[in-house]
Amino acid sequence: NDARTLQLEITRYGKDEALVIVRDITRLHNLEQMRRDFVANVSHELRTPLTVIAGYLETLEGSGQAPKPWERPLAQMQEQTRRMTSLVNDLLLLARLETSERDTGREKIHACELAERVAHEARSLSGGRHNIVVDCAQDAVLTGDSGELHSAFANLALNAVKYSPDGGDIELRWWVDERGGHFSVRDQGIGIDPIHIPRLTERFYRVDAGRSRESGGTGLGLAIVKHVLLRHSGELNVQSVPGRGSTFSLHFPPKKLVSMADT
Ligand code: ADP
Repeated sequence: NDARTLQLEITRYGKDEALVIVRDITRLHNLEQMRRDFVANVSHELRTPLTVIAGYLETLEGSGQAPKPWERPLAQMQEQTRRMTSLVNDLLLLARLETSERDTGREKIHACELAERVAHEARSLSGGRHNIVVDCAQDAVLTGDSGELHSAFANLALNAVKYSPDGGDIELRWWVDERGGHFSVRDQGIGIDPIHIPRLTERFYRVDAGRSRESGGTGLGLAIVKHVLLRHSGELNVQSVPGRGSTFSLHFPPKKLVSMADT
């Protein structure tokens, strides 16, 4: 009576013949489920102690009572606590994206508004070091989960800031054509060697781990983007030239767009 997970592979030969391979992947499926649950539980359990530590550190710093030699270690403890908090939050988000059902979000999201909001967040991370512009040729409404779509758009924009030298231009674009809706982020940053591109959406895959950590990266951003897209029937496209810059784009099929008149 146990539920089994089966994988079906069908290869057609000519008109009348086909080879069907049925694999029982129940064990693999269960192990994967255990891994996800474990990561989600650990991340969840780590949240409370992290909040307590961050709270005490903030009180200590704000009190102005900390002895002078403690200032540097205190600032570093705060920085590391912030990093750990983002990591735990990203792990939890990824676990949720991997386990819950697809296509559940039915919210209506104005794409141009989202692009503007994300540009605002990128400007705040950049602190005026980059020239960030938004080109929103034609607004459209996307259906989906607003929090998830925000994560996907924001990860691309924040990466453009993280991996671009000061003074670089960053352009966020949204446009619609017969293939659907498209959001892209173009930067003049360090770029990515083509051999790395197929692996960028793997968890913790980084081209340069030192640089990623230094800029506050968790190594999970593009894995989150990939899972958000899977749940919204979207696709990710990456074009990059090392030393020149990169363009990351998201494509959503027409079925994910609502006519502006229906909103
Ligand atoms: P991270 O938190 O390390 O930024 P991501 O999953 O968001 O993790 O990205 C994975 C890796 O892809 C990064 O470590 C970086 O090496 C590379 N990358 C992502 N975006 C860019 C970009 N705009 N320019 C250059 N490299 C990038």
